[in-house]
Amino acid sequence: MQNQNSNGANGMPPSEPRRLNQRPKGTNDILPSESHKWNHVERIMREVCGIFNYREIRVPVFEHTEVFKRSVGDTTDIVQKEMYTFDDKGGRSLTLRPEGTAGVVRSFIENGMSSLPMPVRAYYILTAYRYENVQKGRYREFNQFGAEVFGAARPDCDADVISMAQLLFDRLGLRKTDLRVNSIGCPACRQEYGRLLKEHLRPRIAGMCRDCQDRLERNPLRILDCKEERCREAMGGAPMPLDHLCGDCREHFEGLTAALDSLGLQYAVDKGIVRGLDYYNRTVFEFVSGNVGAQGTICAGGRYDGLVGLCGGPDTPAVGFSMGIERLLMEMESAGAEIPAPPGTLLYIVASGERARNMLRPLVYKLRSKGYNVDMDMLGRSVKAGMKHANRQGAAYSAVIGDSELDSGSASLRNMATGEAIGAPLADFCEAVERLAAEAEADASERKRT
Ligand code: ATP
Ligand code: MG
Repeated sequence: MQNQNSNGANGMPPSEPRRLNQRPKGTNDILPSESHKWNHVERIMREVCGIFNYREIRVPVFEHTEVFKRSVGDTTDIVQKEMYTFDDKGGRSLTLRPEGTAGVVRSFIENGMSSLPMPVRAYYILTAYRYENVQKGRYREFNQFGAEVFGAARPDCDADVISMAQLLFDRLGLRKTDLRVNSIGCPACRQEYGRLLKEHLRPRIAGMCRDCQDRLERNPLRILDCKEERCREAMGGAPMPLDHLCGDCREHFEGLTAALDSLGLQYAVDKGIVRGLDYYNRTVFEFVSGNVGAQGTICAGGRYDGLVGLCGGPDTPAVGFSMGIERLLMEMESAGAEIPAPPGTLLYIVASGERARNMLRPLVYKLRSKGYNVDMDMLGRSVKAGMKHANRQGAAYSAVIGDSELDSGSASLRNMATGEAIGAPLADFCEAVERLAAEAEADASERKRT
């Protein structure tokens, strides 16, 4: 649409009106016509979390910048390039959460949750903020669903967490999300592995990207995660963490795959997964879609046994995942997953004339207070325009009520699908509507059964 004010005619500088009606780059509006999809997905998430005994946690949109620097890690892209950091009026450095785990861990420690019976299971549905190169499936404000379990170190627990994500995908009708698992070992085995990796990389590092050159000494493991072609090439033939696990880490990984096998979950071992966040150890996993394209990782997770201790809490093993809800919805769209339509209008009434309006207003309210979706024309439309609107709104029934209906004491309810008219005496209009609602419900559950 052309911006009417772009000539600055109303005294505003030309860029200002554009900003007034344009959202910031990388943000999205979830419109009334789309929000039922989000509600559906979030409802299933809450249901599945309930089944697995997770409780919701809600953490602040911003935290002290240190929380993310420490948790996410100084060498990550998130901390180095992507955070929305600002000083508040009191001179504190605050940051909009770029992900959920750091705040959850901060809250776990601050609220003494380590003294609760273990495991402590928490899930979140939240917005996250990253200054990213915006593209399909990659935004600056996006939504994450995540789950974290504290206090259980056994590999069964990793499998338990993974199986929850799998059940969610199943319930959302997603059959083609591939599970990939790997182990990146513990700090002990990573020391030896890091040495081997650096040995492999040193002769090749000059041809790699700047970021990887920086990572070589500080965090060589992250080089495995680089998406640049020349870096991927240089990684060819590099030693992989999974092939250099210590005895305990190997046993843990074997425990994980055995548990996944016993659950009948399909997965592939992918030695290349390391995750961009520094706090992971041992298990890392992803659910990847073939449909979403370059931004194919829908869900990413793993174990982070060192994080609670690193953030000043008592040593507590932990495992979790987070899932991009935008990417999940894109996947559902391309997979043709069924999303239930929002509840429709049962009855749309066009009142013809002031007398009818006054009589119908409380009647409509009475039906609404009983829980029925009953709507009345708000614009004073003609009968013809009102009917057209009832149709557009997808009402199951419509009624036109004016002076003649009031005088005769009887109206009729029109079935919008069949055109059938059902007599409804005004004296028990509500009961007639309730009967129709019950019939419509019985029809719907009959359809569901067959
Ligand atoms: P990527 O490699 O795609 O950048 P990441 O490693 O930065 O992902 P995580 O920090 O693990 O992602 O976040 C978990 C999930 O959140 C991702 O798998 C993805 O589904 C989603 N996600 C991450 N960043 C964005 C973003 N900018 N926009 C939309 N979804 C995102
Ligand atoms: Mg990223």
